[in-house]
Amino acid sequence: MKKPEKIRILGQWAKVQYVDLTKGGEAVGEVLYGDCDVATRTIRIEKSLDDNLTKRVIKHETMHMKLGLSGLSEILTDEQEEAICVLVESD
Ligand SMILES: [Zn+2]
Repeated sequence: MKKPEKIRILGQWAKVQYVDLTKGGEAVGEVLYGDCDVATRTIRIEKSLDDNLTKRVIKHETMHMKLGLSGLSEILTDEQEEAICVLVESD
C-alpha cells in the first residue's frame, strides 16, 4: 500500500506523517496508533502499523480533523468525539 502523505479534508490539505509515536499520541488500549493536530493540519500515524491498521487509523484521525476544522468538535465532549471517530474507522 502506498501511504498517503497528504489528504484533502474539507478543502484543506493535511499532512500525514508516519512516525514513532511511543513518545505520545492517542492511546487505543495500551498502543499508540495516531494523533491529529488541527492547528498545524498534521496527522501522525504510528509507522509500525500494518496496511489495514494504517488505513483504519487514517480514517479515524481524518474524522478528528474534519470535526476540528468544521468546529463541530467544539460542541462535543472528548468522549463523544472519540465515539464518532471509532464508528467512522469501522467497516
Ligand atoms: Zn481518536
